[in-house]
Amino acid sequence: MIKDFFKQNNYEFIEDAPLVNHNTYHIKSKAEFLVFPKNIEEVIAILKFLKENNIEYIFLGNGSNVILANNYYDKVFIKLDKLNHINIDNNIVTAEAGVSLIKLALDTALKNLSGLEFACAIPGLVGASVAMNAGAYNASISDVLISAKVLNDKLEIETFTNKDLEYEYRDSFLKKHKEYICLEATFKLENKDCEEILNLMSSRQERRLDTQPLSYPSAGSVFRNPPNLYAGELIEKCNLKQTNINGAEVSEKHANFIINKDGASGNDIIKLIELVKKEVKNKYGVDLILEQEIIK
Ligand SMILES: Cc1cc2nc3c(=O)[nH]c(=O)nc-3n(C[C@H](O)[C@H](O)[C@H](O)COP(=O)(O)OP(=O)(O)OC[C@H]3O[C@@H](n4cnc5c(N)ncnc54)[C@H](O)[C@@H]3O)c2cc1C
Repeated sequence: MIKDFFKQNNYEFIEDAPLVNHNTYHIKSKAEFLVFPKNIEEVIAILKFLKENNIEYIFLGNGSNVILANNYYDKVFIKLDKLNHINIDNNIVTAEAGVSLIKLALDTALKNLSGLEFACAIPGLVGASVAMNAGAYNASISDVLISAKVLNDKLEIETFTNKDLEYEYRDSFLKKHKEYICLEATFKLENKDCEEILNLMSSRQERRLDTQPLSYPSAGSVFRNPPNLYAGELIEKCNLKQTNINGAEVSEKHANFIINKDGASGNDIIKLIELVKKEVKNKYGVDLILEQEIIK
């Protein structure tokens, strides 16, 4: 039924789709369907069909903050990669949900626009990053976002202001209300010399290369830093670096990273997370909070 609908409407889709290249842990899950709507009309039509037929679906950005727990999903994964247009009008920048945040940071820097330097090494797409309030170096999406075009739970397009998005640390209205989907975001940036911006970005990228295990698949920091503490330091002090469960390993380079060293499944990563949480709780009495999202 799903296949017929996709075919009849000429949608771009893959059946029994390998997700290994759609999540940065490179977990080898599969989805019954992976669909790539080409525009907002297609997004709405696909969602209407799925909702009317009670078919479960999941929006995936670049898969850089998720752990795919199942080997197989009887679900439709929707990717907005094809919504990838950027418009720059003086210092007002509009980007569709499928734009890479790193590309956006670079493109705006080249136009002498400052404000997205923090995003230069965050491998997410705009849509998910607006929902997650992605950030680094004490800056985040909420500092520069003016408004977002959102598809609401009734499949109507609404404009959410920054205030409407109820931003908090790595959290927002959209993150709490999964039926609301970010389609596009508008940012206000400041004029600044391009060279200055690019220098800052490259020094930050170099520092990440020195301190993070970027040559292995991961989804960035696993746990939030507890107040006044560093999750990585607590994990390191529990001697957990290089603890390995079936290929999922606590990184030697940075203990708050789990890397997929050798064909780990989502469940192997989750087991390792549980082990780390237990050890840190036993030794320090601290409940680590997961920064990544487990997709079931
Ligand atoms: C090496 C590395 C470094 C990282 N560094 C940072 C960092 O410094 N700071 C930081 O904040 N994060 C960091 N991350 C994590 C991650 O890149 C960010 O959280 C990013 O914003 C996630 O975007 P994504 O497109 O990959 O989302 P995904 O992981 O694909 O999805 C995340 C969530 O968003 C939902 N979603 C997807 N699309 C939409 C949409 N259009 N509207 C609403 N919801 C949607 C998904 O259903 C899912 O629930 C890092 C990750 C890696 C691998």
